[in-house]
Amino acid sequence: MTTRAVLRYVKHTMRRHPQFEVTHTARCLAADCMWQVGPTDDGGLADDAAMAHTGRNADHDKFERKIEFVAEVIRAD
Ligand SMILES: [Zn+2]
Repeated sequence: MTTRAVLRYVKHTMRRHPQFEVTHTARCLAADCMWQVGPTDDGGLADDAAMAHTGRNADHDKFERKIEFVAEVIRAD
């Protein structure tokens, strides 16, 4: 008697987990500037705050922008 393995390939995909919020942060990259905003679930608020910061400090126009969320792998079929 021989043993045979049966392999089944299943496609998966990754998506944002719907029960967790997306969080946004922004941090000014100008030298010695400690300005930052977030985390917040409102991406528009983070963008608006960063633009207002640039409006008050014209040379502070680069930001580290992070958008974080919980992801999950689910079957694609
Ligand atoms: Zn700044």
